[in-house]
Amino acid sequence: MSKRVVLIGHPVAHSLSGQMQQAAFDEAGIDAKYELLDRTVIELPAAIADLRNDEFLGANVTIPHKERVAPMVDRLTEDAQQTGAVNTITREGKRLVGHNTDVPAFRKALDALVGRQKMPRAAVILGAGGGARAVVHALITEGFQRVVVFNRHLHRAEGLVRHFGRSAAHMELRAMPWHESVIEAELSKTKVLINATAVGLSSDETPIPRELLPPELLVLDLIYSPRETRLLREAKRADAAATMNGELMLLHQGAAAFELWTGRQAPLDLMRERLEEAISDSGGTTAGDAEAPAEAAEPPEQAAEDQRPAEGVAAGSGSTTEPG
Ligand code: NDP
Repeated sequence: MSKRVVLIGHPVAHSLSGQMQQAAFDEAGIDAKYELLDRTVIELPAAIADLRNDEFLGANVTIPHKERVAPMVDRLTEDAQQTGAVNTITREGKRLVGHNTDVPAFRKALDALVGRQKMPRAAVILGAGGGARAVVHALITEGFQRVVVFNRHLHRAEGLVRHFGRSAAHMELRAMPWHESVIEAELSKTKVLINATAVGLSSDETPIPRELLPPELLVLDLIYSPRETRLLREAKRADAAATMNGELMLLHQGAAAFELWTGRQAPLDLMRERLEEAISDSGGTTAGDAEAPAEAAEPPEQAAEDQRPAEGVAAGSGSTTEPG
């Protein structure tokens, strides 16, 4: 019987993961079909419960569900536990296991971005969703000493910092309010800027104006597109040391997911080829691993927390750690 692997997100119509995953299944002679499943927050628990059936090999989870899925599976692997976010699900009989292959994939992208330079120790992250959690976890384990997270809804960045409280106790992890002057001040003290917001995904917008970008930055935009995002174009004009989009990360998170579902080595060159074709065929209309409205739905933490004063939160200074 042909097996099913599904990408669960909302929306998912323009995802490019299908092309590279289907090519990999076909190449490996695995009788499986990769499908896109558009499921809203309300529909999510039923979609995850369905994965327990034998017809499924596993699933990918994407924007905006990565954090919501974590409590819905039976076991979390180390990276999923540490981040509180799941992008890949495998089955152990009827039990579901949540993984986070964004973490090792981000490490590969960061290494490529930094190249032969010394690995920096300070970073600014824009965004506090599932993707940002993978980035923060990877930076903590990479030995970064100062990481500042800015998010449109401050309470979500504060929740992220509380989540990492214990693992970030030895370094400075801070949530700060999204004010341009504060972002500018932080960027002047850092070497690495990561965009983990969805801004630029479905329109030619940038999360921060060009004037805020100092020269010599290393800029990684998790969004990928045949058309460079505005953030990356402007970073180049501001004399960035190096820029990179999310393609390499997408490739490696997909290859790691393939290996988890199948137990086989991923055909990386073929997957890269198919992904590049798919990106190029999308003609610039698809800029991320899923198309998403710029104004994303209310994040998982309670909307009531929005009412908190915007003073920022720091890890390692008395914050509590959320249970994984
Ligand atoms: P989530 O839905 O979990 O988070 C979305 C993030 O974008 C939140 O921080 C949200 O802020 C922010 N955001 C959305 N709209 C706006 C806006 N108009 N202004 C400011 N901030 C905004 O998504 P993910 O974390 O899963 O994904 C985020 C991005 O990273 C997407 O573009 C995704 O494609 C990309 N990504 C790429 C990967 C790759 O392999 N290349 C892997 C993972 C993610 P708020 O909380 O305030 O709503």
